Amino acid sequence: MPFAKLPKVELHLHLDCSLSYEAVAELRPDISIEGYREDFVAPPKCRDLADFLTRPPRFTALMQDARGLTVATHDLFHQLRKDQVIYAEIRFAPLLHTDGGMTPEEVVRVVDRETSRASAETGIEARLILCTLRHFDERQGLATARLADQFKNSMVTALDLAADEAGFPIDAHVAAFDWARQHGIACTAHAGEALGPESIWETLEKLKPKRIGHGVRSIEDPMLVKHLKERDIHLEICPSCNVQIDVFDTMADHPIKRLYDQGISVGINTDGRTISDIDLTGEYERLAETFGWGNNEFLRCNLNALHAAFLPQNDKQWLERRMLEAYCEIGVESK
Ligand SMILES: [Zn+2]
Repeated sequence: MPFAKLPKVELHLHLDCSLSYEAVAELRPDISIEGYREDFVAPPKCRDLADFLTRPPRFTALMQDARGLTVATHDLFHQLRKDQVIYAEIRFAPLLHTDGGMTPEEVVRVVDRETSRASAETGIEARLILCTLRHFDERQGLATARLADQFKNSMVTALDLAADEAGFPIDAHVAAFDWARQHGIACTAHAGEALGPESIWETLEKLKPKRIGHGVRSIEDPMLVKHLKERDIHLEICPSCNVQIDVFDTMADHPIKRLYDQGISVGINTDGRTISDIDLTGEYERLAETFGWGNNEFLRCNLNALHAAFLPQNDKQWLERRMLEAYCEIGVESK
């Protein structure tokens, strides 16, 4: 596959939606490959985001102790290595992993430690993003923000707001994001997937994130597109997932190319590798097939993502050099 060997950056990747069959079978030895696909992989078309979101609890049910979290973390790095990812930001919601008796702090400690180990073993640079969820209350959001602060000198780098955008309002999360910013924690937030541009405007205004998870429906509002460009707000775009939850009918209807052509900083991500039945190489192939994209566009998207990464400048520059050298070897230069 021509894109398999390209070095890649992935900023939007959920740990709890990305378990391979091998990892699930290690934690649930009775499961067949058919049962795995039935329970963990969503169909190519879901009714909407809420329908899609019936599956993540099946993943988190397997990640309620240190063993489950450890298996999931190392399994994901194994997948990232196959995909030639050189830098990943991996996100999860610590408060969803306490059913087995771990505290949220213990949950983060395990994932943080195993991410550090897996990163050293694979040579893949990585950071963690802690998610609070739309249906959480203010106290739960603040608890997540405090965990991000507590672990900020380790692998944790940012706070995110995820889950059902259309089902729950944003107001309960303002305090957590204010607190995070005041403590120097970077912020991103899911918006503009289940709802339209007004949700992105509201998220930018109330949570003030540096990046938006998805943000694809900003294409409906030229003023918003202009604003995103002026403020250099990066969109973490997950094309296959957007088609799967029926934000767009087909890949040809997806606005990633139109946003890219208007100069918006867009990156390419999988969101959940298992639930969307995709890897990053597969995303690149679909974009190549649909929009005629090639190495020049993929290099630009990867450089956009590195520029927007929640990393110190020195680390970004080192990764950028690695990226440019690899593309140079195949005859592609940054324009
Ligand atoms: Zn997501």
